Amino acid sequence: MGKRAETISASSGGSESNECDSRQAHHVGSSPQEDRGGAAGEVGEDTCREEGGVGGTSSLGSLPWRVRGGLHARCPVDSGNVEQSMSQMSTRVLGCYLWLLAEVIFLAMAHAQTKTAAASEPATSTSIVFLGTGTPRPQPDHEGPSIAVIANGKAYLVDAGVGVVRQANAAYIGGISSLKIEDLRVAFITHLHSDHTLGLPDLIFTPWVMGRTAPLELYGPTGIKTMAENIIKAYAQDTNIRIDGMEGANRNGYKVNVHEINSGVVYQDANVKVTAFLVKHGSWPKAYGYRFETAHKTIVISGDTRPSKSVSDACNGCDVLIHEVYSGYGGTSQKSPEEWMKYMAAFHTSAQELGIVATQARAKTLIVTHYVSLGSSDQTEMVNMIRKGFAGTVVVARDLDVIAP
Ligand SMILES: [Zn+2]
Ligand SMILES: [Zn+2]
Repeated sequence: MGKRAETISASSGGSESNECDSRQAHHVGSSPQEDRGGAAGEVGEDTCREEGGVGGTSSLGSLPWRVRGGLHARCPVDSGNVEQSMSQMSTRVLGCYLWLLAEVIFLAMAHAQTKTAAASEPATSTSIVFLGTGTPRPQPDHEGPSIAVIANGKAYLVDAGVGVVRQANAAYIGGISSLKIEDLRVAFITHLHSDHTLGLPDLIFTPWVMGRTAPLELYGPTGIKTMAENIIKAYAQDTNIRIDGMEGANRNGYKVNVHEINSGVVYQDANVKVTAFLVKHGSWPKAYGYRFETAHKTIVISGDTRPSKSVSDACNGCDVLIHEVYSGYGGTSQKSPEEWMKYMAAFHTSAQELGIVATQARAKTLIVTHYVSLGSSDQTEMVNMIRKGFAGTVVVARDLDVIAP
């Protein structure tokens, strides 16, 4: 088990109280820069949009379905050439109107299907909700990395990227009752890279403001305690005003019981057993993946990692392996392709490598998230590369996908 929990509060600082399924992989188009400030990339078009809302069937059965369709109604825009003739502009405007019309029709359909899906969440089961599938790049349709594993109606979060609480609420509104804001109580952080932790203040404070009365139970590598302490210190004025002022907020819901973990079983209750294992993520001394065992299924989440035997060992025939991935070859505005690929190889797993990992892991289903396409690569190429080494089901997760394996 992990180390003894320590409760952190502001006052004391201490102990007070669509799938674009692989068969039709979609193309997001930009080239996220992992774990660094972003060099500009082009805004691409999501060619999976027409099927990317709620629903869609796969070999998993009727899932995944999506609890919210693409709410990003935007026209595809070319970068670069500003000067255009009037005829070109007219064509563009007409095309844009048609595009928006299609988007409205799509959203209406998605809404109707959401209601159908919302009624179908079983009371006793295991499911996975992808709250955010993004990377450090602030892509409008990919929130920061965060996954909810739901077992018997209780949610367990892995990572807290940007947008984590709003995405949980979107899922809740879409019918995932386990993701009620006040019930976000337990979170496991894979490592302390900012893209995985920028939502931590949100997860600490927003559920409290909305009525959570119990502290957040937070599990993560060494350093998570200092991070949580400093977040709470940073917001001390807010907590004091909310508690002592007219808002009358409760005194415990913003606190954090921090568990700095080691490898091994770090959490167990009636619904789930969670085992942490170290992965190889560049120069991070401690980056973890997590294995979730419920009464129904075993789910392994890689976190950020280059190919690591520990992931395959943790899965070992698991029902679902959720893994990060990158594809293609390219650099950034600040790094040459040679430099950048060296970094990627040390910190992350290529599509080709992932196929081998998934086969070694004997994963029944592989779900990729936190995906990065470099250069001219896209998701079709990414999935094709994975499939060179892995014959099982491959799913490319999108935000608010709900998968019941
Ligand atoms: Zn990372
Ligand atoms: Zn990351």
